[in-house]
Amino acid sequence: MNHSLDRRRFVLGMLATPLAMHTAGAAPSPAPAPDVAPPATLPPWSPGYLDIHHIATGRGNATFILMPDGTSMLIDAGATDDTLNVSAAPKPDGTRRPGVWIGRYIQRHLRATGREQLDYLLVTHIHPDHLGDVSDASPLSAQGPYRLTGITDVAEMLPVGLLIDRAYPSYDFPAAPKGRFAENYLAFVKSRVQRGLAVERIRVGGTSQLAMRGGTAPFSIRTIAANGEVWTGKGGQTKNMFPSLNTLAAADYPNENVCSIALKFSLGKFSYFTAGDLTSYTYDGDLPWRDVLGAAARVAGPASVATADHHGMFDGLSADVVRALRPQAWVIPTWHIAHPDMLQLERMLSERLYPGPREIYATSLMTANHLANQRLTSKMRSRDGHIVVRVAPDGEAFTIYVTDNGDENDTIRSISKHDA
Ligand SMILES: [Zn+2]
Repeated sequence: MNHSLDRRRFVLGMLATPLAMHTAGAAPSPAPAPDVAPPATLPPWSPGYLDIHHIATGRGNATFILMPDGTSMLIDAGATDDTLNVSAAPKPDGTRRPGVWIGRYIQRHLRATGREQLDYLLVTHIHPDHLGDVSDASPLSAQGPYRLTGITDVAEMLPVGLLIDRAYPSYDFPAAPKGRFAENYLAFVKSRVQRGLAVERIRVGGTSQLAMRGGTAPFSIRTIAANGEVWTGKGGQTKNMFPSLNTLAAADYPNENVCSIALKFSLGKFSYFTAGDLTSYTYDGDLPWRDVLGAAARVAGPASVATADHHGMFDGLSADVVRALRPQAWVIPTWHIAHPDMLQLERMLSERLYPGPREIYATSLMTANHLANQRLTSKMRSRDGHIVVRVAPDGEAFTIYVTDNGDENDTIRSISKHDA
């Protein structure tokens, strides 16, 4: 179930009892509403809570997580150079690079933990909207022979404990990544290793690689899939979905998207599923092994909150994926004119696929997409702004805040409370 609060009632509740807003089903405040509600800003993280921030820069994916003990993690830091006719405007604005805005967002929210280090930096796959485009205008790092964008901007601003990607130390499967953004990322990885900093390849199936630093909360992050390897649901066992490359035409090789890392977060009854740009599309049945997202969703679902992976593009959510995940809230990481696809929205909203209410949030929906899909996008809870999922310490309830991405004040635009 879920119910929404308007800002005025939320503010009153906050003033009265700071923690009441985290209690699903709490009685509404009996106090009369004032004529003008003061602007509410996102209360800082506090110990025991799980915060999942979908940072909306308009330039790609970036999800910042504060675990119940204050352990921190960033999944991706996109910084696409795509032009404004096909991609969203940079937010808060274009005076700083997207990676710098992301770094500042993290620094601001890390303050509540008393720490200044990012414990985990995870790159789901090697594409610019997840790690950063590079041009001659990208400044050089002071730490090594690479340029600053997305992931490297964040690593320049904050100490990073452990960098994890899908491929380290060998990036030649299924094919060596091409492009200046990939060369730059690999130079960054090499530089980290030379400086004695930790880099690991993701390990599928277990919960030990992305553990909290301490604490006793019933919290875990399980790696569900990467590189076509998918958890079976039994212990740490995995299966490989990809055929041997020597049986495939080069055009049918797994691409970067279908190699993406998929993760499931759990805190008590609450769960969250996210999978980079993993896809379910099989070329209409011709290449069934490419439905890695379907396999991952079936073993990981259901989830309280899920991202619409690959930005809600046509090849992301199959009907089976929606049935398996059936979340109370979908978060679509949008930044391009094609995000999301109309049929993906139909599926997310379809009570034929799963019953009950659900909310849809997009980080940066372009006006052109809204015009094309208005019949469905008008049903979204939010089309622009940071989307923050805050889970209560016992995992019984969670609140979804949308905050203003036009500045750095974390002003709350909407709030929605749910039982997990
Ligand atoms: Zn992407």
